[in-house]
Amino acid sequence: MVERLKKALGQYWGYTEFRPLQQEAMQCLCQGRDAVVVLPTGGGKSLCFQAPAVTASGMAVVVSPLISLMKDQVDALTECGVPAARIDSSLTPDERDTALDRVRKRQLKLLYISPERLVSDGFSKFLQTLDLSFIAIDEAHCISMWGHDFRPEYRQLGSLRQIFPKVAIGAYTATATEQVRRDIAEQLRLQDPTMLVGSFDRPNLIYKVRPRSGVVKQVCEVLDRYKDESGIIYCIRRKDVEQMAEKLTAKGYRVAPYHAGMTDEARKQNQDDFVAEKIDTIIATVAFGMGIDKSNVRYVIHTGMPKSLEHYQQESGRAGRDGLEAECWLFYSGGDYGIWKSILTDSRGAGVEPAIQGQQEQGQDALATSEAQDIGLAKLARMYSYCTDAACRRRTILQYFGQAYKQDNCGTCDICLGDVDLVDDALITAQKILSCILRLGQRFGGGYTALVLTGSRDQRILDNRHDALSTYGLLKDYDQRTVHDWIEQLAGQGFIEKTGEYNVLSVTEKGWRVIREELTPRLLKPVEKAQKPERKAKVAAESWEGVDKGLFEALRRLRTSLASERHVPAYIIFGDAALRDMARRRPSTLQRFLNVRGVGETKCEQYGRIMVEKIRAYCLDHALELDR
Ligand code: ADP
Ligand code: ZN
Repeated sequence: MVERLKKALGQYWGYTEFRPLQQEAMQCLCQGRDAVVVLPTGGGKSLCFQAPAVTASGMAVVVSPLISLMKDQVDALTECGVPAARIDSSLTPDERDTALDRVRKRQLKLLYISPERLVSDGFSKFLQTLDLSFIAIDEAHCISMWGHDFRPEYRQLGSLRQIFPKVAIGAYTATATEQVRRDIAEQLRLQDPTMLVGSFDRPNLIYKVRPRSGVVKQVCEVLDRYKDESGIIYCIRRKDVEQMAEKLTAKGYRVAPYHAGMTDEARKQNQDDFVAEKIDTIIATVAFGMGIDKSNVRYVIHTGMPKSLEHYQQESGRAGRDGLEAECWLFYSGGDYGIWKSILTDSRGAGVEPAIQGQQEQGQDALATSEAQDIGLAKLARMYSYCTDAACRRRTILQYFGQAYKQDNCGTCDICLGDVDLVDDALITAQKILSCILRLGQRFGGGYTALVLTGSRDQRILDNRHDALSTYGLLKDYDQRTVHDWIEQLAGQGFIEKTGEYNVLSVTEKGWRVIREELTPRLLKPVEKAQKPERKAKVAAESWEGVDKGLFEALRRLRTSLASERHVPAYIIFGDAALRDMARRRPSTLQRFLNVRGVGETKCEQYGRIMVEKIRAYCLDHALELDR
């Protein structure tokens, strides 16, 4: 069985190896066992059911929450030579009849449909007359209220087990806490399901966090390093999206906005342009994301802090699905914490991005109790410490999802790369700050405390006679901004608490342990005027190993024109990983072209000739060696 799966992997997808857990997940379906499969974005979940569907007799049914997701996968399968179709409300009656006809004639290996159609009386009766190989539930967390994207229509899938008692069900998701995993199995009434949970680590993602200052410039620095490549910029509010889009457009960047306040058409147009690579960067609120399978997103920038690490992992995870290096930047400020806090504690939800067709967090709305509020605030606090903690970002994320990270240095986050410098005498600096808070009677906010510590002659300080305090001017060698940042960092690490409307500072129990010298906090050195050059992370160097960049660019342009001729997204024709492998191996014959990672038989037939021609011409022109 494994041999047949491997053969299909090579023949249709051009891959030679399974990714972690893929083989196990495929075997479950082949043996008719139920399974819950949790793999990170880019982990290769689709193949877990697509490859078994190809090798099994009969047709597999795939349930997916969004039409755009179904379309993407069906297009990609068709390009690989796998007979697949979808039936959804966007089809014309003719297209629908054609698809149904192919189902009846048993020509299909995979059929994609919505959950409501699958359980509908008429359609499920029709399917019962066919030979179904198995049922795959994509984005399975949508069934759980505890997940981040609950969809009521997914709940109906609970009746599947009864309707198709003999058909194995596989459930697939990228984010699922233990609770959500259990809920998925229960809601779907799976029978003794195999639970396969992969590592949440995304080794090809590079994590960087900076305090926000002059954010447009900070964003441009990232964009400039990824000229002509795709990326996403997330903003907290619509007006931030619009302002950022205006400013970047004025500077000549090819960007477009996306948020729930736009018309459906305008939004769809911008999304299509992004997928078709007519623009490079989409600037969006959280409304943007699901349904985007674009594999070559090279950077995801957050210009504000998300409200939880689940959200951050989900959004930043849209980078680098193709397994090639990608950067995840987060520019935060203490103010972001305040914005989310007021949104979470204000039942009117002032300024939150609302839903686009069920994209809201109904799970949380449904639990709109003080308990949900507490959970929200706790998640927010964890997110904020991610920003301020100065601990390995990768380890922090993995720990949050209950997984250990064993390496000391991940080599791919700002902390491990040494982008940020730690203050040497953090204990003493922190003690100065904490004792100042105590001297001020724990009645003032961060800004004021920083003024006192830096010895400001501000009138309020003089009026309050705080220039007479023993802690006045203790940190006068630093500017107010730096000291304020340190206060934020201490709050983020739980040594200081901010309360009330004015964010009054007080020293926590943990803070007292710093005063007693039992704990040492981590504080970041102020960002120097002359920034250090970005250190290249190791992953980046490796995946470009032996690749001729000029040839890669030439092949990318060719891919763009092929894609627009055929009206499919570029990454469906070839992923960036395949193009890099072509620019590395530089095959001169179709036979050798087949060895490229990501080139199966159908793609070789379709595009082999034109790609090989390009490669040969380019190599001749540039005196490059072929067939390496
Ligand atoms: P997910 O749905 O888990 O986010 P996908 O199924 O979209 O991930 O796969 C991500 C990328 O990895 C795709 O480009 C896919 O073709 C590729 N991929 C999947 N399995 C393998 C494999 N065994 N070897 C190489 N590439 C793979
Ligand atoms: Zn690290």
